[in-house]
Amino acid sequence: MTEILNRTDAPAEGLTARISDSPTGYTGVDGDEQWAAEIRRLAELRGATILAHNYQLPAIQDVADHVGDSLALSRIAAAAPEDTIVFCGVHFMAETAKILSPDKTVLIPDQRAGCSLADSITPEDLRAWKNEHPGAVVVSYVNTTAAVKALTDICCTSSNAVDVVASIPADREVLFCPDQFLGAHVRRVTGRENLHVWAGECHVHAGINGDELAEQVREHPDAELFVHPECGCATSALYLAGEGAVPADRVKILSTGGMLDAARATRAREVLVATEVGMLYQLRNAAPGTNFQAVNDRASCKFMKMITPAALLRCLVEGADEVDVDPETAAAARRSVQRMIAIGQPGGGE
Ligand code: SF4
Repeated sequence: MTEILNRTDAPAEGLTARISDSPTGYTGVDGDEQWAAEIRRLAELRGATILAHNYQLPAIQDVADHVGDSLALSRIAAAAPEDTIVFCGVHFMAETAKILSPDKTVLIPDQRAGCSLADSITPEDLRAWKNEHPGAVVVSYVNTTAAVKALTDICCTSSNAVDVVASIPADREVLFCPDQFLGAHVRRVTGRENLHVWAGECHVHAGINGDELAEQVREHPDAELFVHPECGCATSALYLAGEGAVPADRVKILSTGGMLDAARATRAREVLVATEVGMLYQLRNAAPGTNFQAVNDRASCKFMKMITPAALLRCLVEGADEVDVDPETAAAARRSVQRMIAIGQPGGGE
């Protein structure tokens, strides 16, 4: 395959020569039509399908075969006929795709694309926490590394976290990690006092705080508020909406699919969106007549934006970076994901 790709034609070589590396990612290539045609050509040569998370740059979303949330994309990866998956998202998401498709080659355009929420609990942290609470059931949000998933009893998403916790016998202690806002939301809804919450968070959520949310809602009295808590970046908004920081009748907590349906159906001329700003691109495409505004336009994930046009081109030319999970860890992690799927709707269309 490398041989085939080395015989790339002049435009590819010209484009490839422009790639430069820096600590913040690969740069030097524009996501224009020439680039998109080259990406499609290389993906076909490599027999790869390209998946893009909702928070990716518009050019990456446009060139991908599928766009969605991490879990839906991992399931698409497992069902895809192609043997190679190029996952345009952050590292734990590509790992989840590998866990569910152990026999496929999974590539991420830049393995340095991490996640502050996933990094807020290590396997060592979780082992020590479990030792403090012997017999407790561990519930982890999908934003965790494969090694943490392997130490987890049941995974959850923001859509099914309440159902997952409710499925655990009331007298069993629960350790919920790593997202403190989602954990607090679940504790409030279930009323469960034996639920312990890890103090992790996503750095992007800090841009969607209660004061800002309430002020925006006051300033835009006719606007609806869409909250999309998929990725940890807006679980604080989910928590605040539940606390009554904004009027309940104007708040819609929605999965990706639900958000796009609601965008097409809304009669509101203005919609405030509490999530990472990448989601706005899809909403504006779905309903060009509606004015979608970010609650905070600085709520952008720098890790997601490391998947640049240059990074994707390099990935397809070099077949790098490959994501691997050792088979034992993958098997244990897979069990925790499958238990979640058995319990309830994981919100595959988020
Ligand atoms: S938005 Fe937050 S939770 Fe999502 S990948 Fe970025 S850092 Fe992680």
